[in-house]
Amino acid sequence: MKERPTFPARLDFSVGKSKGNRPVPGVIHSGLSAGAKPPAGVLSHGVGLDSSAVRLNMVHKLAKQGITDPMVLSAMRSIERHRFVDSALVNQAYEDTSLPIGLGQTISKPGVVSRMAELLRNGASGRLGRVLEIGTGCGYQAAVLSLLASEVYSIERLRGLHDKARDNLRHLRLANLHLLFGDGMAGYAKGAPYAAIIAAAGGESVPQAWVDQLAMGGRLVAPVSAGVTSGGQQALVVIDKTPQGLRQTVLEAVHFVPLKSGIA
Ligand code: SAH
Repeated sequence: MKERPTFPARLDFSVGKSKGNRPVPGVIHSGLSAGAKPPAGVLSHGVGLDSSAVRLNMVHKLAKQGITDPMVLSAMRSIERHRFVDSALVNQAYEDTSLPIGLGQTISKPGVVSRMAELLRNGASGRLGRVLEIGTGCGYQAAVLSLLASEVYSIERLRGLHDKARDNLRHLRLANLHLLFGDGMAGYAKGAPYAAIIAAAGGESVPQAWVDQLAMGGRLVAPVSAGVTSGGQQALVVIDKTPQGLRQTVLEAVHFVPLKSGIA
């Protein structure tokens, strides 16, 4: 796996005007605090009371793989990944592997979640501003992002997973995380402009709506297939919106579930 940008290229998309980093009225909240139960014991999830030790071990491995952003490492240490997977898979929760979460979808590998989070933060000293995530899935990455940004809007097109994420996240009571049900191909205009946009599903190109909703100086990280690499393989793409235009960087090969349009 390459750790460095390979062939940066300029793209000519129109650049939307930044409206500043104001709060968004009328946003649909996840209802995380409504009727929230007290946190369930770790033991009931079958990992044992020392899941923090297992997580710390995972974080050491991420650091060895090259993740250096202290805020990312700290978030990976805080969020209990085992709470986001089925009980039958709990013993694999801290391995660097993707796991099924139902409806044919998967939770991303910790290595990929932390890599993308680090790219998204791009060395920022404090938290990012507003972040848009496309593909909530089970909600794990959304929880990680909520520790790295002032506000996170996470959108999912499958009702079953949107509901599952809400259940999985309830115990964390993350007031800055907003779960949305809808087609993320259109982004979420009400929250724009975003300091950062991250996609957990890969399409053949980056939808124009995402680029339009990115703030000036913002960064988008997404898996993209076809066109960006020879052979149509999926790769991570970083797009920076600069006053001089868009700067696209194609990074290492990845394997994400497909980005689909519509809701189900
Ligand atoms: N970040 C997630 C990964 C989920 S897999 C996690 O931590 O679990 C990617 C998700 O993207 C799937 O749940 C899939 O349904 C969703 N997805 C695919 N196309 C989408 C679209 N157009 N809008 C919103 N979500 C989409």
